[in-house]
Amino acid sequence: MAVLVFSPGYAAPLPGHVFRPDKFRLAFEMLLKDGTVSRGDVAAPAKISKRDLLLAHTPAWTRKCLSGRFTAADSAAAEMKITKVVIRSHFLHAGGTVKAVELSLENGLGINCGGGSHHARADRGAGFCLVNDLALAARNAQKEYGVKKVMIVDLDVHQGDGTASIFRGDRSVFTFSVHQSDIYPEKKERSSLDVELPRGATGAAYLRALRRALPKALDRFKPGLVLYLAGADVCRGDLLGGLRLSPADLRRRDACV
Ligand SMILES: [Zn+2]
Repeated sequence: MAVLVFSPGYAAPLPGHVFRPDKFRLAFEMLLKDGTVSRGDVAAPAKISKRDLLLAHTPAWTRKCLSGRFTAADSAAAEMKITKVVIRSHFLHAGGTVKAVELSLENGLGINCGGGSHHARADRGAGFCLVNDLALAARNAQKEYGVKKVMIVDLDVHQGDGTASIFRGDRSVFTFSVHQSDIYPEKKERSSLDVELPRGATGAAYLRALRRALPKALDRFKPGLVLYLAGADVCRGDLLGGLRLSPADLRRRDACV
């Protein structure tokens, strides 16, 4: 039974960039090597169509993504050079999250070994993110599977500002973000619930804040589906983040969710 979604195409090269897309392949290979998953557990991403993109993005941004004709300003906003290879890779990541949600609705659990493009806005890319896979997969679950209420639990060290802006005013999707207060994005959006932590926060402080907020939010909202962005950049020593979680804290965090 497939539980994990992966594609070798997740790793579109971004030479010299701080964002290392090969991390997805390295994580996948590690899971295979230590026996956490076998080849039989792995599914390919769903194909992303224009209709899918329009679930989360404006017609203008959808057109750009499909034609591959981006301007220098588009690349500047996304903070990376957007090539056709790069956008194709981002389609695969988005298709991976859509597929993982489909697996979870069939079997109770689905994991995308990629995705997490939570800074992508409806009308543009931002912060290395081009297609908001979480928004797209949440709306696809509502449209194709009749899921009424979706909660997005975003525990990346950065706020899920793109996701929050896409679902602003949509009471059928609850956006929950725990993030560091003094890093990108400089201007935060308002999620359904934001929990901010200061630079240098320890694993104990992080877990206390999470355990205080998440169970209450789940009880109150009662989602039919939860999408969990298990960002690893909360770990001590991350290049872009300033929190101090250990690998053991990360395991506790994931177990808590
Ligand atoms: Zn991040």
